Amino acid sequence: MSPHVVVVGAGIAGFAAALAAHAGGARVSVSAGPAGASELAGGAWDLRVGRGLGLPSDGVRGALRRLSTERPSHPLGRLPMGDALGDLEASHRAVLGALGTHRSPGFDAAPERVATAVGLAREAMLAQHAVLDLAGVAEGCIAVASLPGLRSFDARFVAASLTEQAVEEGRGQRFVALDVEMFRRAGDGLLLPHEAAEVLDADEGLERFAVALKRALGGASLDGVLVPPILGLHGDGRARRRLEARLGLVVGEVVEPLAGTQSVRMSRALGRGLETRGIARWPRAVSLVPDARGLVLDDGRREAFDALVLATGKFLGGGLHSRASEVQEALVRLPLGEGRAFVPAGSILPPTAGFEGPFLGPRPGFARGVRTDLSLRPIDASGRVVDPRLFACGALLDGVGPADGLAVAAATGHRAGVLAARAASGASRSAE
Ligand SMILES: Cc1cc2nc3c(=O)[nH]c(=O)nc-3n(C[C@H](O)[C@H](O)[C@H](O)COP(=O)(O)OP(=O)(O)OC[C@H]3O[C@@H](n4cnc5c(N)ncnc54)[C@H](O)[C@@H]3O)c2cc1C
Repeated sequence: MSPHVVVVGAGIAGFAAALAAHAGGARVSVSAGPAGASELAGGAWDLRVGRGLGLPSDGVRGALRRLSTERPSHPLGRLPMGDALGDLEASHRAVLGALGTHRSPGFDAAPERVATAVGLAREAMLAQHAVLDLAGVAEGCIAVASLPGLRSFDARFVAASLTEQAVEEGRGQRFVALDVEMFRRAGDGLLLPHEAAEVLDADEGLERFAVALKRALGGASLDGVLVPPILGLHGDGRARRRLEARLGLVVGEVVEPLAGTQSVRMSRALGRGLETRGIARWPRAVSLVPDARGLVLDDGRREAFDALVLATGKFLGGGLHSRASEVQEALVRLPLGEGRAFVPAGSILPPTAGFEGPFLGPRPGFARGVRTDLSLRPIDASGRVVDPRLFACGALLDGVGPADGLAVAAATGHRAGVLAARAASGASRSAE
């Protein structure tokens, strides 16, 4: 029988690990707990280096160079450049191919530029098919669709804010709010974007939207239309393509800051991606890993493994707990680092220190996680590998901040999956 790799966690890191271990010839099972950070992230896919959101303007290679100098303990920053780039490219080919929801990254191209639902434009490594890449409409006037029922999206504010930013940055783009007569019945007042997206998945709903947009545009000379995240729940961008063909204009969504339409697409794609490859998805969480051969699911069932990948995320995913004023790894009680990316060399922090400060600031507590060697095997304080069949990846890793981005989760998940399949094959051979 093929060696058995169990992946705990079905976010992006677990997904990447499962695909890689499966491609490496292992029999793979994924234990899926409740939604973690990957299913809350919006439509942008980031590789974050410093305090700003998204990819710096010098692109993927520039980001890796800066990680290696500014954050040398980051799981990608401490790898040789060629290995880090190799992991990123291989993981993105596999993960984005299996998800089918995002555009492919140009590893040598300039980053994409996306507008957020709160009216700020920023760079991103890539984005979902439905999201508008503002870099493609560098000059010109872009309409921001205002839909009466969608109260959560303030098109006037978004248009004014994006214009102000473009003027400040010396860009040639301007944004104007455009009233679109759809979703304006009494019952639409509490409509959420993903419910509107479901309406646009139907041919009739999409056609009504196309007609309403066309009427709103009239004869105005515009270069694109920015809409709230309502372009269907299918992740393949079909609603966007059909609208663009009908209007003869570029149309696309803003990115959401939190769970909504874009996370529904991601969540569905994660499940579908495992299913179509025949990778077993246990709809149960792991409650215990009593020894290095087996684990216990939360229904009491025991399962054996030849290698185990922990892709359990940070506080939000459930990989780390804060108990009795101490931060702990939740399943194996693995030793934790100190979020070294942000901690001055030699300093020792009390376990609960470092959670203060601005969201994107240097809060080492949120970057704490499992310390590993370069093969992503957890290590203890003296640098010894805890167990050669155990691997960790994604946000669970030490030095990775909670908002560091999906790219690092995919790349480390991929590396963990490749190495877990190899370790499992060695372990199952020696057991025979
Ligand atoms: C609010 C928010 C917005 C973000 N926005 C963006 C963005 O726009 N762009 C971007 O690139 N990044 C964004 N990020 C960062 C990105 O989402 C994370 O870095 C990434 O999703 C981490 O992936 P992961 O797979 O390591 O962890 P997670 O996605 O958290 O996955 C961990 C999984 O492990 C499971 N799990 C935990 N314990 C168990 C157990 N015992 N048994 C079984 N399963 C278990 C959980 O159920 C969860 O599904 C955002 C993060 C947050 C919190």
